[in-house]
Amino acid sequence: MDTMSVFVIATLMMLANGGVLGLMHSDLPQALRPAAVSWRIGTLLVAGGCMLFAVQRQLPPAFVLPLSNGLVMLGFTGYWRALRQFYGYHDSPLLLLPFLAGTCGIFWFSAVTPDIGTRILIVSLVWLVIMGGCVATLRSQAQRDAAISRRVMAGIFVAVMAFVVLRMVYFVGLGINPGLSVLDGGNLMHAITPMIAAVLPVVGTTAFLLMCSERIRRQWERAASTDYLTGLANRRTLTEAGDRRFAEARQKGGCLALAIVDIDHFKSINDRYGHDIGDVALKHVAGKIELACRERELPARQGGEEFVVLFDGIDAAGAHAAGERLRESVAAAPFVSGDLDLPVTVSIGVAVLNETDHDLDSLLRRADAALYAAKVGGRNRVEVAA
Ligand code: GH3
Ligand code: MG
Ligand code: MG
Repeated sequence: MDTMSVFVIATLMMLANGGVLGLMHSDLPQALRPAAVSWRIGTLLVAGGCMLFAVQRQLPPAFVLPLSNGLVMLGFTGYWRALRQFYGYHDSPLLLLPFLAGTCGIFWFSAVTPDIGTRILIVSLVWLVIMGGCVATLRSQAQRDAAISRRVMAGIFVAVMAFVVLRMVYFVGLGINPGLSVLDGGNLMHAITPMIAAVLPVVGTTAFLLMCSERIRRQWERAASTDYLTGLANRRTLTEAGDRRFAEARQKGGCLALAIVDIDHFKSINDRYGHDIGDVALKHVAGKIELACRERELPARQGGEEFVVLFDGIDAAGAHAAGERLRESVAAAPFVSGDLDLPVTVSIGVAVLNETDHDLDSLLRRADAALYAAKVGGRNRVEVAA
């Protein structure tokens, strides 16, 4: 097949992909739509550029070459922008610099001193800068986003970059005559170019949609497992983790301890300052409890102004100190909001697994009894269940 036909087919595939992404737009959550729009615009721009490549013989080179190359470079910039939006980065006009510099360069080397070798060099470098930016954006999320689709997307960019380097070395490094135009037949490198240009709009779009669906799946999972107000684990997560650790402790003979943490006189905060301030105070206390927890300990909101912490590696000897760690963390930091500066304290009941416990509930019941004793004993204190 001649290069022109490949360009036409590649363009049609890109347009079809952009169309599919457009049809799916309203299925995407609001937060992902700006990124999806940028990705779609990028795809349409690359398709437009490839279409112009296909008809370049019919138009003056000084016009068609900067325009077609510029459209493709701008389209790739759209992908870069889409990835940045996907991860919540602010827009930056600096992203346009490689495209602007590249388009001016292409104009110069097609209108003023025509030179296809230099044009290939410029286009390659601009593609590498933009795609390098995309890879850097994806890599910057390695800690936050473990999704395979993110890595696949980075892999696609790296693969295209590798081809760009190969093509640059082939024409510029080895000094192989690229002919007058990328439509010149007989040169395999030219024939592959449109296919490679189509990789991102076609395969990349699939990867992008997978990134979106993975994001949505994780958001649902998080919503189902965390408490909407405090962001701590919710009761469901607590029960699942608690049952699992209970079974482990029973099988392997390890220790299991938990604390029920209840805010003292919380009702009076609501009554005096309103429910909204009460909510902020709840978040504040949740934050202090979380801060006091160690790596494998699980803080959860059990409901209302009551929290549960599943300890790890705490036995009867360490139970009181573990509870104290939580109590002190809350008592040490008053709740501050606007002019308000309120001391907040919690009472804590701790229970350590013993022979009488046949499930997590019995452990919780004993911790609750200890909590009651802490309340009766004057509040802002820790009691360990007998
Ligand atoms: P004690 O020291 O005995 O625990 O006193 P308390 O006032 O903390 O206990 P009580 O059980 O009487 O009151 C708990 C209050 O917590 C009542 C309820 O309105 C409030 N509460 C429960 N859930 C929420 C919530 O999500 N937001 C707010 N603002 N208040 C809540
Ligand atoms: Mg309370
Ligand atoms: Mg309570």
